[in-house]
Amino acid sequence: MITVNEHYSKLQASYLFVTIARKIKDFQEQHPDVDLIKLGIGDVTKPLPSACIDAFKKGVEEMADEKSFRGYGPEQGYSFLREAIARNDFRDLGIEAEDIFISDGAKCDTGNFQELFSTNSRVAIPDPVYPVYVDTNVMAGRSGVWKDGRYEGLHYLEANSENAFIPAPLNEKVDLIYLCFPNNPTGQVASHDQLARWVEYARENKALILFDAAYETFIRDDSLPRSIYEIPGAREVAVEFRSFSKTAGFTGTRCAFTVVPRECRAYTSDGEAVNLQPMWNRRHSTKFNGVSYPVQRAAEAVYSPEGKKQVRELSDYYLGNAAIIRKNMEALGFTCIGGENSPYIWVDGRRDSWDFFDLLLSAGVVVTPGSGFGRCGEGYIRISAFNDREKVLAAMERIKSSLA
Ligand SMILES: *Cc1c(COP(=O)(O)O)cnc(C)c1O
Repeated sequence: MITVNEHYSKLQASYLFVTIARKIKDFQEQHPDVDLIKLGIGDVTKPLPSACIDAFKKGVEEMADEKSFRGYGPEQGYSFLREAIARNDFRDLGIEAEDIFISDGAKCDTGNFQELFSTNSRVAIPDPVYPVYVDTNVMAGRSGVWKDGRYEGLHYLEANSENAFIPAPLNEKVDLIYLCFPNNPTGQVASHDQLARWVEYARENKALILFDAAYETFIRDDSLPRSIYEIPGAREVAVEFRSFSKTAGFTGTRCAFTVVPRECRAYTSDGEAVNLQPMWNRRHSTKFNGVSYPVQRAAEAVYSPEGKKQVRELSDYYLGNAAIIRKNMEALGFTCIGGENSPYIWVDGRRDSWDFFDLLLSAGVVVTPGSGFGRCGEGYIRISAFNDREKVLAAMERIKSSLA
């Protein structure tokens, strides 16, 4: 008899996006002439930078010619891309091309990495959270059942106004820690000192940090760390995930990478250190056959002089939207975080998240209710800056008049 992985039955239906979709549908049926403005999704709206498009096209041309055609490439990614990343993103941080694994997305990588660890690892997950970290650990059997809005057996790192949405290490012992800065959904960014406390915790407790830096490109404050490897000692205890999705508009093109430093380690049950890089290399090359050649060429172009300029313009544009959103929401008396080194603005609605969602929907603006990201998101909404400037301005006018 073929039996199923019953851990899947613990998973909660994606209540958040299903409910949002249903509410939007109901609203549109009742108000067919309202053109809704969507500031809810975590997807970019601007096209790929022209430097990437040119390199992408050239890559396609090479595939058309027998002399330059390429079949399977290295599973870990072409060295032209791994080297460009090491040189540009991790200069002076002790990270080299061999530490970098190219993939088709940070979603897959943050979801897959937990495979390297035993089922009884104790997992710490932020609340509110990007749901991939939670669900993949539930599927793997690292949680108990869903009860009162949380999975039993997981350790929740509560982010709230008391800790400025940056959870500090717990007093209890955990083995695997997920952190994301700049954060989705809160837009908050951890300082050097705050990350250093986590690195110290991981070193003392022989734990591992999985650091999601998908929004690194939005950091403008030079005092904030862009990579966890800016913290001394992090290379032994942290894996970092990055993506071209939000940086350069690759959400539909697919290219990302994971950094697993040579020094990074976990342990056998006898306490013997095991390097994670060969393990991830084995996992990645067994289950993945590489990102397409033209896409890797397009990603490489992000690091060309033209590409750097264009990518900067892209993130400046979204950050301009974010500043407008934050300024307007604050002018209406709401306390906000994020939106400064992040494309997300986390707004204290001073009421139930869904009530606020409904109110803004009736004004013609779609946002995301914070409660959908975890219990600590109750009372908040997330507003995304990924949209056109005119739409953002129009949305702010609609919100203003509906709250007046
Ligand atoms: C968008 C996003 C990613 C990137 O995912 P890709 O699969 O690379 O598109 C990763 N982490 C977080 C928190 C995100 O919001």
